[in-house]
Amino acid sequence: MHYHILLTEECNSQCRYCYEKSFKEFDNGLNKKFKFCFSSEKEFDIKKLKDFILSDPNAVIIFYGGEPLLRIDLIKKIIDEIDVPFRMQTNGKLLNGLPLKYLKKIDKILVSLDGTKERTDFNRGKGTFDLVMKNVENAIKEGYRGEFIARMTIDQDFPDLCDQVIFLQKKGFQSIHWQLDVGFYKSDFNKIKMEKFFEEYNYQVRNLINYWITKIEKGKVLKFYPFLGIVENLLNKRPTKLRCGAGHSGYAITLDGKIIACPIMNYIEDFKAGTIDDSQKQLNKFSCDEECSNCSYYNLCGGRCLYWRKANLWPEEGNEMICDSIKFLIDELKEQLPLIEGALKTRKVSLDDFAYEKYFGPEIIP
Ligand code: SF4
Ligand code: SF4
Repeated sequence: MHYHILLTEECNSQCRYCYEKSFKEFDNGLNKKFKFCFSSEKEFDIKKLKDFILSDPNAVIIFYGGEPLLRIDLIKKIIDEIDVPFRMQTNGKLLNGLPLKYLKKIDKILVSLDGTKERTDFNRGKGTFDLVMKNVENAIKEGYRGEFIARMTIDQDFPDLCDQVIFLQKKGFQSIHWQLDVGFYKSDFNKIKMEKFFEEYNYQVRNLINYWITKIEKGKVLKFYPFLGIVENLLNKRPTKLRCGAGHSGYAITLDGKIIACPIMNYIEDFKAGTIDDSQKQLNKFSCDEECSNCSYYNLCGGRCLYWRKANLWPEEGNEMICDSIKFLIDELKEQLPLIEGALKTRKVSLDDFAYEKYFGPEIIP
């Protein structure tokens, strides 16, 4: 099981799609849909956390926030105390503050970058791109050998996915994941804007798949996580559950020891799965069955996002646009399957090249 530990709610960035939108989102109706329960000030006892984590023989810890590197003290304590694999999702600005000895224990790190310097700085603040790149390059220079994954947010104003992904790949990122900033706020749906967005975004998805396939034909499977996840299931003919793992293979642990289905539901009582006083086997399970089980793509999609489905903040026509883009992505990858199978047959690539660790951060379905 993968556990996001929510080390802090504070963040040292004020990104457009998070900070600005939260301020416009006063009356989204969620207080009528869900019961909220705000965490207490009390911080969990690390020994209790350890007992809970070690009750699961396959536990993996993901440091998460707010910005997790604002709590380097707690990261060090947890790494010193608990012997499990570690991952982290960070904006990367404070990466240089974590001593190399600890950084090396975190095998996979998602860093937030949205593409070029111009794009990243526009979304995340001036100077962000250079600072994050410097920190990533320094870590590698000093001997970090884990996986850095560029974690992009695709903003509704900028659907140019393909150009931005290829830019980051040429900058040295072999692993890239993106998530669309759609469906998470009630106030940001605009039908005409979204129709235009998805038209261009889908075109970019097709171009990026073509680029990915040309690399496969030359013997290299780039870790573009949304493609990797879907193609891995197509090749193995296996259905998937919700691909981020939330509520079945992954949970979030709050500082006061509550266990919640996913990191962004940390105040919602309806998604509480237990506490660290329970054992891993007692945790409640959640799924998108109710919303998605009639969809013929469910076995390959998994439901995109538990929060999006349950909060249901966009009108139905907006949600349908999101689902159509997921179906487009799956259909485009299915169409390329014969070429991928051809590359496997001629041993240009192997099945192992498509294998990846599930549930450590990339949600797979954008
Ligand atoms: S495409 Fe939409 S309806 Fe279908 S499984 Fe995915 S999220 Fe659910
Ligand atoms: S994809 Fe949705 S449900 Fe899954 S972890 Fe992210 S916000 Fe939570």
